[in-house]
Order: sequence, then structure tokens, then C-alpha cells
Amino acid sequence: MVIRSLPVLPPPVDDARIASLAEELSALSPIRQGEELARLSSDFHAYSPVLEPLLAPCRAQLAVRVHSLDALRQVVSACARHAVPLTLRGAGTGNYGQCVPLAGGLVIDLSGLRQLRQLDPISGVFTAEAGITLASLDLQLTERGRGLRLAPSTLRSSSLGGFIAGGAGGVGSLRWGFLRDAGNLLGLEVMTVEPEPRLLQLDAEASAPLNHAYGTNGILTALTLPSCAAVDWQQLVVGFMSWEAALDTLQELSHTALLLNNAALLEAPVAAALPWPSGCTPPRAGEHRLLLLAAPDAMAVLPAWLATRGGTLQWQEPQAGGRGLPLRELCWNHTTLHWRGSHPDWTYLQLLLPADPQPAMASLRQRWGEDLLWHLEAVRQDGAVRLSGLPLVRFRGVEALADLIDHCRGLGVLVFDPHECSVEDGGMGQIDPAQVAAKSAHDPAGLLNPGKLRGWLERAGQS
Ligand code: FAD
Repeated sequence: MVIRSLPVLPPPVDDARIASLAEELSALSPIRQGEELARLSSDFHAYSPVLEPLLAPCRAQLAVRVHSLDALRQVVSACARHAVPLTLRGAGTGNYGQCVPLAGGLVIDLSGLRQLRQLDPISGVFTAEAGITLASLDLQLTERGRGLRLAPSTLRSSSLGGFIAGGAGGVGSLRWGFLRDAGNLLGLEVMTVEPEPRLLQLDAEASAPLNHAYGTNGILTALTLPSCAAVDWQQLVVGFMSWEAALDTLQELSHTALLLNNAALLEAPVAAALPWPSGCTPPRAGEHRLLLLAAPDAMAVLPAWLATRGGTLQWQEPQAGGRGLPLRELCWNHTTLHWRGSHPDWTYLQLLLPADPQPAMASLRQRWGEDLLWHLEAVRQDGAVRLSGLPLVRFRGVEALADLIDHCRGLGVLVFDPHECSVEDGGMGQIDPAQVAAKSAHDPAGLLNPGKLRGWLERAGQS
């Protein structure tokens, strides 16, 4: 962990300038105070006891909702002319304080931009506006025999623009890798932050620096992505009494020809703390649980294949039309959400484990004991099968957390540190000059989400 304090940024905009901006945008009914302004200034960073106190004082001075590109252009132009920082917001479900405005200014809620503009029936490539919820998008694709390749476990609420600007992967990562893997984002429509905002069409290569840049280097107004053929996914809960057998099975599954969309493994204490879908019995004492989304054609083989490895099929239900809790919402960061419901003094990490994960996992268990509980997700990264870890971690202070992160890195584990709020420190740890160049091109005055792109601050001498 690098940052223990927020970067030094210019003071909030003076009241007179905010008042004249609000006056200029009065037709859009800007929100100037109250709980709604506080809500629109926050996200799900409270999973981090490091970020929570740091970001608590950060508040927008004004917020607006836009429902058209014309309205967005009007707001962006006004911010550029008044030199007011602006932070973009989809559904506000990010975990890294991604849409918390560090320098005040204005928050733009883009949830009103929600059209699926087109879907090519042959290639399955679609273009949709940034604020569309992934649930609505997935439904519209499914009606035409297609589906999202990748979705976060927050599919029900989060937006397409927020997923690309803030997310990393999730359900589908076992097949399609992470969002930043080549081929998962095909193009962007971007509005520049200038007194006369321009609308640009970027191809896949030019779009890459805006993928996972927290909305610091361009306003995404529409996105073009590939889809996949719709599959009637079956949700399976499988119990294992042996952790070793469960872990071996998780790893082996990725090397079969069985079509799976997600495979998550929860260590017994984690499984015991989760709510289970109706009809699914809670785990027995000491039972680890493997959660699968499997294609119907895998079902002829899967139950017997799992049984030979010590797994017992505890529950099965189709995802489509299922009532109540979908299995997706026990996976990815929903596991953290549920665990923290009963263990508010715990936090988590986001890891990519080495190709042979077991020595690193054993070393972590030896040093941290039951202060670190495993939640694993099988993924593909750059084509290779890997395990992503979202372990639950008992919070014993900032120093202990930093020690744990150092220990992970020393073992060759890649840490996407959810206790940092810059693009670089929550990601690969390095400045990407292409992200900084995109900011120069699309946001020359540096007004977008100030403080989140470390490369820009260092370039501007503000770090
Ligand atoms: P927001 O939180 O509104 O925004 C995220 C970032 O994108 C912010 O920096 C914002 O400024 C920027 N942004 C938003 N819209 C635009 C735009 N139009 N143009 C430019 N920048 C923009 N993430 C995963 O990747 N996978 C998961 O499985 C996953 N599971 C989660 C589970 C839980 C319980 C929670 C709380 C979070 C989870 N997340 C996950 C994080 C988050 O939900 C997703 O990344 C989600 O897709 C973000 O979408 P959003 O609309 O809420 O984005």
C-alpha cells in the first residue's frame, strides 16, 4: 500500500462559482444539498476500513442527472467554462471510492442514458448507452438469443459505463477473461471536457486506455462490445468435506470441456455465514462449497464427475426465471458483502494467485491462520487458467494489512489493492502513459475525477 492520505488537490470551488453554475443548469434541477447529494457522492468503498475514514469528508457541491446527450453536453460545457471538477456516476457500486469526488465539484448521474442503440444479429456486437443497467441490457440481449460475456455480481444494479470504467471482470471471466483482455471492448463514444464538448468515436485500440480508468480520461457516452450466445445456465451448489479435494476440483474443472460461466469456492466458515437460495440447505459443519454456473449440456456428466472427486450436489436450479437470490449474488464481491453483514470488523483483498497457487495459499495460512479465509474464483487471464482470490481478512489495523499485502506480493501474488483509491494503486501498480495521454486529449484542463489518476498528478507535479 502506498497511500495513507489523499493527494493534495486544489481547494473546493468557491460558493459563488457553484451558485452561478447551478443557476446556469437550473433547467436540470441540480441537487445542492441534503442526503441525496451525500448519496450521489459515495459508493461501496466502506468495505475498506482504510478508505472509509479518508473518503468520509469528500462530498460533491452539486449533482445533476442527465437523460440526453444534449443535456450532458450542456453540463460538461458549463463545468469546463466555470473550471468546476466533475465526477461521473453510473450506479455508484464501485468498491475503491471510484466515484467519490475528492475535490468537490459536480457529480453527473448518467443513469438516464440507457438505450440499447443497436445489436448486429449476425456478429452479436452491440452498442449501448453508458447508463443502461447491465440487467436491462442482458434482458434485451437474451430476448434476441444473446447474452453479456462478462458481468459483475452487481448485474442487477450497475451500469455498463461504470462496469467498463470501474469494473474488472466477474461472472464469465472463466470463459472470457477480464474486461481489459483484448477483444472484450470494441469501441467507445466519448465526450470531451471542453467549453465546446466534442463527441468522438474511438476504435478498440483507442478505447483501451479508457477501459478501467475510473472516468478520469473521458466521458463514456456509448460502448460497443461483443456478446455471446445465450445459455440457460444451471446454478449448482456442491458440498465438499475436504478443502484439498474442493480446491483440486476447482482447478481441474477449468481444464475440462464442460461449459461453465462461473466457478467459485468458499471455505467452510465463509459458506456458513452466507444466505442460501430458498430450497438450498445451509452447509453442514465444516462443509466447503463450490458454486457453479453450468450449461445444460454439462449436466449429463457433471454430477457424477463431481461425486468421484468427493463433491455432493446440494442444490440445482436454472438461473433464468429463478426466484429469490441468484447464485451470482453469493460470488465475487457479493461474498464480501454478505460476510461483512455479520462480520463488520473484517475486510478483504483482491488477488490473482500464481499459476501454482497452493504454496502461496499454504504460506498465507501458516502466517495469518484463521484471520484470512478463502473465497476463490476460477478465471482466465490472457488465455491462461488462474485462480482469483477475494479472501476475507480480519482487520487488525493498517500496518497489519500492509504486512499482509507485502507478504502476498513476496509470494508472487498480484494484489489489486482495494484499500487504495487511485487507478494505478488499485490496479497494476504502474502509471500507464496511454491513460495519461488520453486524459490530455479528452480532458485537457484535468477536471475529470481529480486525484484518481496518479500519472496525471505526477505529470502536473501535484503528487
Ligand atoms: P460506478 O460505481 O457508478 O462508477 C465506477 C467508476 O466508473 C467511477 O470511477 C465512475 O466515475 C466511472 N464511471 C461511471 N460511469 C462512467 C461513464 N459513463 N464514463 C466514464 N466513467 C464512468 N466489480 C467487478 O468488476 N466484478 C464483480 O463481480 C463485482 N462485484 C461487486 C459486488 C458488490 C457487492 C459490490 C458492491 C461491487 C462489486 N463490483 C464488482 C464493483 C462494481 O459493482 C462494478 O464494477 C460495477 O460494474 C460498477 O458499475 P456502476 O454503474 O455502479 O459504476
